[in-house]
Amino acid sequence: MESTTVGFDALNLIDPICRAVNEEGYTSPTPIQQKSIPHLLQGLDLLGCAQTGTGKTAAFALPIMQHLSENHQHTGSGAARALVLAPTRELACQISDSFETYGRHLNLKHCVVYGGVSLKPQIRSLRKGVDVLIATPGRLMDLYRQKYLRLDKIEVFVLDEADRMLDMGFLPDIKKIYDMIPKKRQSMLFSATLPPEIMRLTKLFLNDPVQVSVNPPASTVDRIDQRVLFVERENKNALLESVLQDDSVERALVFARTKHGANRIVKNLSRLRIKADTIHGNKSQTARMDALRKFRAGKVRVLVATDIVARGLDVDGITHVINYELPNEAESYVHRVGRTARAGATGVALSFCDAGEKGYLRRIEKTINKTVNVVDDHPFHSESIALKRASAEKSGGKFSGRRYGNNSSSRSSGRPAKNERNSYSRKPAAKRTTFKRRAPRPAASV
Ligand code: AMP
Repeated sequence: MESTTVGFDALNLIDPICRAVNEEGYTSPTPIQQKSIPHLLQGLDLLGCAQTGTGKTAAFALPIMQHLSENHQHTGSGAARALVLAPTRELACQISDSFETYGRHLNLKHCVVYGGVSLKPQIRSLRKGVDVLIATPGRLMDLYRQKYLRLDKIEVFVLDEADRMLDMGFLPDIKKIYDMIPKKRQSMLFSATLPPEIMRLTKLFLNDPVQVSVNPPASTVDRIDQRVLFVERENKNALLESVLQDDSVERALVFARTKHGANRIVKNLSRLRIKADTIHGNKSQTARMDALRKFRAGKVRVLVATDIVARGLDVDGITHVINYELPNEAESYVHRVGRTARAGATGVALSFCDAGEKGYLRRIEKTINKTVNVVDDHPFHSESIALKRASAEKSGGKFSGRRYGNNSSSRSSGRPAKNERNSYSRKPAAKRTTFKRRAPRPAASV
């Protein structure tokens, strides 16, 4: 986690909040926290261009809690004073956990509501009113329509991951919610990107906002050891098995493009007796939370996910992100690999690239502005894909004139230097042990 030299004490946060962040081991605010908190404490509206992994949750949670506890008011039945909207249930739960952590020395009530689970416990939690309500838009609308929730007491409103909200088709719900909350309030909108639709939303929601942006993709991505493995599509399962033989792959998040694809990968891993589970939109909320809990606790070594639910996942200790399939949007790649190297740690991201995915790789490299190193010393290496990539790179044409080799570890040939080959892991080769398998199969020497 990139942080600054300024301490939390310079931000005028109240003692119970400073204590909580100190107990979390945060020594200094991250750039988004340093840039946002002073404005938010003054009650200004804010447009934050930042993605998860930058510390943006604390950037809005700390000033919200400070405002609520300094202006204490009794919340009426079914009412909330601050509303945080998040696109996915997982992200909503993470935000709720953050309020729990940062607010542990304050006397504030918070509650999280999301779809896919019974309404009853959520209705019960809302009955006496809450200070902070974290919600996904669909369930919020449900509770409101059934009159279990009032939004006329909202003092602070946060729209988190606004670009993702729009991608997921939440715009109509968001507009309705906007009409339901008081016009006099403090508002914040956070988004990883600022396309024109977001700027339009900003005009509607925010009143003369302060704009802050941090540039996490580069800094986050820089800490990640990124590698690409060229492989024919039909060999991807065998390659995954081979990669998972390396015991440095302690906790792996594997990405598939589709839900069915994710299920197929898990089925195959289960056949190989590798503990794996999926997390995607077709699973019930309980099953998703259960998979996440087991993964967090280390009971499941491999979690196979699709993009929609994985964005914003905050699981400590993911050693490897494996792109079993490359995403067709370069942005998603940045989000995916950012699931490792959380909070200052380093991590490894391995991308399996088949012949049909070369174009995706090119766009990804353009976005992250560097060449991803090739691992060619594995049993399923496809030289023909590697050669096509290398020749496209030499001709320069297909790569939009971009020059490769713009950082010391990249090579214009697209092939790894000798000492960088043959590695899926962060450990030095001498210390690596091989993950034991029962059936013999050509193993990647790692
Ligand atoms: P977020 O971008 O809010 O999802 O935060 C990403 C991770 O950074 C979480 O695991 C937080 O606990 C952690 N984090 C947030 N603020 C700080 C900080 N000031 N110093 C160190 N870690 C932090």
